[in-house]
Amino acid sequence: MGDPIDLEEESNASFGSASHTKAGAKRKSIYWGHFEDIINPTSKKIEKVKCKYCGKVLSANPNSGTSTLKKHLQSCNKYPQNVDQKQKKIFFVKDPHTESVTLSNWSYDAEATRLALAKMIIIDEHPFSVVEKEGFKTFVSVACPQFVGDVPSRFTVARDCKKLYLCERDALKMTLKGLKSRIALTTDCWTSIQNLNYLCLTAHFIDDEWNLHKRILNSRLMDSHKGKEIEKVVEGCVIDWG
Ligand SMILES: [Zn+2]
Repeated sequence: MGDPIDLEEESNASFGSASHTKAGAKRKSIYWGHFEDIINPTSKKIEKVKCKYCGKVLSANPNSGTSTLKKHLQSCNKYPQNVDQKQKKIFFVKDPHTESVTLSNWSYDAEATRLALAKMIIIDEHPFSVVEKEGFKTFVSVACPQFVGDVPSRFTVARDCKKLYLCERDALKMTLKGLKSRIALTTDCWTSIQNLNYLCLTAHFIDDEWNLHKRILNSRLMDSHKGKEIEKVVEGCVIDWG
């Protein structure tokens, strides 16, 4: 196991010439010490490397330098320096909603960060492509460098949002199923600037503590705003919700 290295110190380290990919050749960058070589038996060249800590296999293309290795070490959950940070960091965290300050032993969690990213996209109505924008990438590299290597593509983040929606929908289904009160449905119809007709179905209900709740059930595209059409769409939504 190699010693932890200062990732910033090494940021300018270069790989050197292509001949260094030959098995047994010395490589300049200290990053290589954290990876095991995977040698192609035919070409006798190092084609891939394996992280000594988590076992992840990365391609070792000399033309791409050591940035892939550096990126991995920054986000590797098993890399001693990261584990060390995980154990030691204690912060004062301010709750954005209540403004209350609590002491927290925050540690980087790739899964939780990805979930929070999907929530941000939904709540703030960002396009999925926000994850590939220059400004967002810069922000992440400053605010949470460990996440740089884990930032999902716009396709993955779209899937995360869909998963989150299905999860929330199932939770709401359970809530509605367990209700003792009746559920009141209201519809709101409008026409977009592209002349498309929409219907939004909202449920209102009162819980056991007499709190009034409002939940949007569906936003549906429809052919017209005629009574018959509204009936058809609402019926379809209600059947979907069980
Ligand atoms: Zn690793």
